[in-house]
Amino acid sequence: MNTFTKKVMSVGEMASGAKLTVPVYSFVSENASGPNVYIQANMHGAEVQGNAVIFQLLELLQHCRLNANITLVPYANPVACNHKNGEYTLGRFDPITGVNWNRMYHFDESVIEPFSQNYIDATEEDINNDFRALMLNEIEQKLDHNIFGLTTGQRIAYQLQRLAYQADIVLDLHTGPISSKHLYCPEYAQASANYFDIPHTLLIPNDFDGAMDEATFCPWWSLQQAFEKQGRKFTMGQGLFNKESFTVELGSQEQIDLDVAKDDAVSILAYLHYKGVISNDEYQPQAMTRYACYLNDYKALYSPMGGMVDYLAEFGEVLAAGEPLARILRMDNYGDGEALHYVSLDKPVIPILHFASASVNQGTELYKVFYNYFELPES
Ligand SMILES: [Zn+2]
Repeated sequence: MNTFTKKVMSVGEMASGAKLTVPVYSFVSENASGPNVYIQANMHGAEVQGNAVIFQLLELLQHCRLNANITLVPYANPVACNHKNGEYTLGRFDPITGVNWNRMYHFDESVIEPFSQNYIDATEEDINNDFRALMLNEIEQKLDHNIFGLTTGQRIAYQLQRLAYQADIVLDLHTGPISSKHLYCPEYAQASANYFDIPHTLLIPNDFDGAMDEATFCPWWSLQQAFEKQGRKFTMGQGLFNKESFTVELGSQEQIDLDVAKDDAVSILAYLHYKGVISNDEYQPQAMTRYACYLNDYKALYSPMGGMVDYLAEFGEVLAAGEPLARILRMDNYGDGEALHYVSLDKPVIPILHFASASVNQGTELYKVFYNYFELPES
């Protein structure tokens, strides 16, 4: 039997004293032999679809045979989630500091080298337990033993990170602005991308830039590298280092679609089945052509001019070199100049997302595209 619990985590206070809280749902498995899982959604305010995916996961997981513990956190960032302006939700940046909410997680690489030296001959079990304890202690120190305090966003991020550090597999559910589904996947975990029903994968290097996925896989990656330098070899994704984190981009912001959410929940369950988290064989990945692209080749195309944009390129389909991505309308030029300007690129690309508004300034990020893409090899 699995035990299901709901808790409410307090992540801060508003000026009036009102509490900022986040619901935390957990399945605790009786025989937790597989990797534990942490899934959160809505760290960015307008990116709400992950909440619907968590709803569908909660519904489906009740009927699954679990080999591990699973923690699910919708509404991960209540400040961003509630930050409306007119008809729109803002909430990709802290309105006070201007910092991206998903760049506030903590990882101090200087703890890795000393740990690897002290544990060079330790058992895998001791390394696993003590390194996890070390990383949790790092967060505890930040949260509770810091006389200078924390920003609102850091306080939220570190509390989420404390939950994530107790898991081996972390999924951070986001969306693009107007977007197709795509997956941010660490390069070492490329094989796992075949188990999500997501046709486009971005392979990210093993660098820490403050995001949740990096904050949870980079410590283990760095530790594995430090051991290797001293002659002790481990493989990322296996055994002690069976740690993976992904940012799952579910589509467009400002949208809830419960039917699509069910498809995405099933896709996540296929991945969790592959990792041994659940033993329900009915969850299998769909056959599809999956494309990948390295992060360096994931290019933003900035608008060459101000104007009104007619977005032309379809998401997820190869657009031939020279074919227009968009046309920009400039009514001020009508009659004595060019009223229409076409935007294209020099190579075939796969458009993944575009800006959410039709009116843009010169320099607005118009599209993001896979520039040098390739078919993801089947594992
Ligand atoms: Zn996001």
